[in-house]
Amino acid sequence: MTPTTHLNIEKIRADFPILQTTVYGRPLVYLDNGATTQKPRQVTEAISNYYDTYNANVHRGVHYLSQVATDAQEAARSKIARFINAKHDYEVIFTRGTTESVNLVAYSFCKQYLKAGDEVLISGMEHHSNLVPWQIACEDHGATLKVIPIDDKGELILEDLDQLLTARTRIVALTWVSNSLGTVNPVAEIITRAHARNIPVLLDAAQAIQHTHVDVQALDVDFLVFSGHKIYGPTGIGVLYGKEALLNAIPPYQGGGSMIKSVSFEKTTYADLPFKFEAGTPDVAGIIGLGAAIDYVNEIGLDNIIAAEHDLMTYAQQALSGIKGLRFIGDATHKAGTLSFLIDQVHPFDIGELLDKQGIAVRTGHHCCQPVMEHFHIPGTVRASFSFYNNKEDIDRLVAGVEKAAQMFV
Ligand code: PLP
Repeated sequence: MTPTTHLNIEKIRADFPILQTTVYGRPLVYLDNGATTQKPRQVTEAISNYYDTYNANVHRGVHYLSQVATDAQEAARSKIARFINAKHDYEVIFTRGTTESVNLVAYSFCKQYLKAGDEVLISGMEHHSNLVPWQIACEDHGATLKVIPIDDKGELILEDLDQLLTARTRIVALTWVSNSLGTVNPVAEIITRAHARNIPVLLDAAQAIQHTHVDVQALDVDFLVFSGHKIYGPTGIGVLYGKEALLNAIPPYQGGGSMIKSVSFEKTTYADLPFKFEAGTPDVAGIIGLGAAIDYVNEIGLDNIIAAEHDLMTYAQQALSGIKGLRFIGDATHKAGTLSFLIDQVHPFDIGELLDKQGIAVRTGHHCCQPVMEHFHIPGTVRASFSFYNNKEDIDRLVAGVEKAAQMFV
């Protein structure tokens, strides 16, 4: 592997205590980063510091600690807004994760804009989180869910896009990077083509936020969603970015405390952005943890992260392709973070189990993308997903483990 990154990976690994752990007596090789990333000490310390020194509810209290907690929460919102280049901090809404962010838009946007006979366009490689909420919304409003098909490389077939975008299409909801195949979609082009027909676009950036530069203004994307836990932050916290005008145009998702201006039995008026969409006590610790994760990424440098992950992917792809009987599922020209593969007719669970016994964590199964598995006529894949804190030794152990599985089962 010829490194294109100047990162000191061993020094970085020391920030992640879990990487020193052993599984079945073997040092852990963690290659399930697509499912969730590990957390650096800087993130867990920020969370425990909040609980230990300024734990309080936000916005409601006038007392000192409440103000400190509120300031910390809003500082995290600003960091995230800058990280994705949102025009305004209040265009960043905190949710529980990608899933809740998609559900919010599918509910609120569709309540306002989706009518019987209308259409919602998604792609054939969506995570169930960016499929089922739209299906429910279409059922609720008598609309039709349409799908951009994928080809055998695991890329979108965009020749069909102009036929799929019709006068009835109300929104396009699309993943930026496929979690099951690693495909990076040409999202800028798709946004431009949708906007040419005045159709807004939601991007599922759950697998993009940690692997690529996200600039919502340059993309001119209407909604963008991601989960904190995929970018070294805690679980249970996520982000919905939305353009101010759109967020103001759609109704709230949930009612409750904090999202109101005034309440009477006759009528409630709603708070301004972002609080209109943040009913109830927020996950203050999670938000602060996510802010610390963004600080961490900025400190390492996203360009360095991208270069390190590119090296790892290239090295892994080359080494795995030498294994007899191994075939990659999805062969897209542009990939990020993820390699999916199978060995002859061996069930992916068997390979995953054998790897697990050697301390190697990968994911097996359909990866919440059953339609993708149907497309390839397979029960699932073995998915190795990488992060910049993985090293060459991790890949060598993966390759040796997969080789062993190939010898045992084929
Ligand atoms: N979308 C994609 C592309 C994903 O990879 C995931 C998680 O794996 C999700 C959505 C759902 O994320 P969460 O479970 O954090 O809400």
